[in-house]
Amino acid sequence: MRHFLYEVKPSLGFTQAVVLALVVVGAASRGAGQIGTGKSVIQKATEQFENSPLKTTSLGNGLFLFSGDGGNVTAIVDDGTTLLIDSGMDSRIAELSEAISKATLRPVTRVVNTHWHFDHTGGNASLGSEGVTIIAQEAVKARMSSVQNVPFVGLRDGHYPSQALPTVTYSNSLPLRQGQEGLALVHYGPAHTDGDTIIYISPVNVVVVGDIFSNHFYPIIDLASGGTIDGMIHSLDLILAQTDEQTKIVPGHGPVATRRDLRDYRDMLAQVRQRIKDLITAGKTMDEVVASAPTKDFDAEWGSGYVPSDVFTEMIFSSLISVTSASR
Ligand SMILES: [Zn+2]
Repeated sequence: MRHFLYEVKPSLGFTQAVVLALVVVGAASRGAGQIGTGKSVIQKATEQFENSPLKTTSLGNGLFLFSGDGGNVTAIVDDGTTLLIDSGMDSRIAELSEAISKATLRPVTRVVNTHWHFDHTGGNASLGSEGVTIIAQEAVKARMSSVQNVPFVGLRDGHYPSQALPTVTYSNSLPLRQGQEGLALVHYGPAHTDGDTIIYISPVNVVVVGDIFSNHFYPIIDLASGGTIDGMIHSLDLILAQTDEQTKIVPGHGPVATRRDLRDYRDMLAQVRQRIKDLITAGKTMDEVVASAPTKDFDAEWGSGYVPSDVFTEMIFSSLISVTSASR
């Protein structure tokens, strides 16, 4: 893995989208976020996170991956402690804690959250009440401290108990050490949310990217939390520039990936974005863009997750419209 700059300056010309009230709060409006069964994206995802078996995978060099109980959870051990990245679903924290202690044989003393979403921070309250230090980008603390509405996917959450909140926050980058491994926490600006952290771990050459990457399905772009399609692509380009063919990439959901997988995903996002951008330029409405099925040739590969192609299209459309409106 190449060394990257600790000083990450917000890129010039990177327009932070002002998300317009394009949809009425709640999943009821024009069925946004509703899929075939009448369930919201979040209902479908939550059922999956509550019912999937919890799987432990060794990544080597004292790193472990726990998957199934929400977002992926990564553990890194040193001589006496375990550092966690993300904390899964609140309903499964006892099961997760047991699996962590069985695999790592060391108590958890620190947890880093990749972003504020419930399937990545659900265990925070339990860990925080045991005195575990919680580390995150500063926007995560702000979002967790008040009620959040994410209408596209039918999520209303936030306002976590005080013990769940980050106790250490940073703005652009934060270096940490855990035994032999150096961790570089980096925020590249709004992408999936406005508080995303990417964690480069070296020398083991692993990067944990949170929900900027879902392997292998369409991602949520959380516009209500400051996320943008252009920010997603921007972050992915910077991650691609900092990794090599040997890097193990831990996505927010799904199996460990290679840099090639990440590039394929980035190219899919960029192509769909361009198609939707062209349709907007041609004066098409959101409904017309959805009806034209701009993701059609990608659906077989990427469309079987909990984000259906129409919701994915609506999120990108709204993200691009927001940028256009904000720059007028
Ligand atoms: Zn997320």
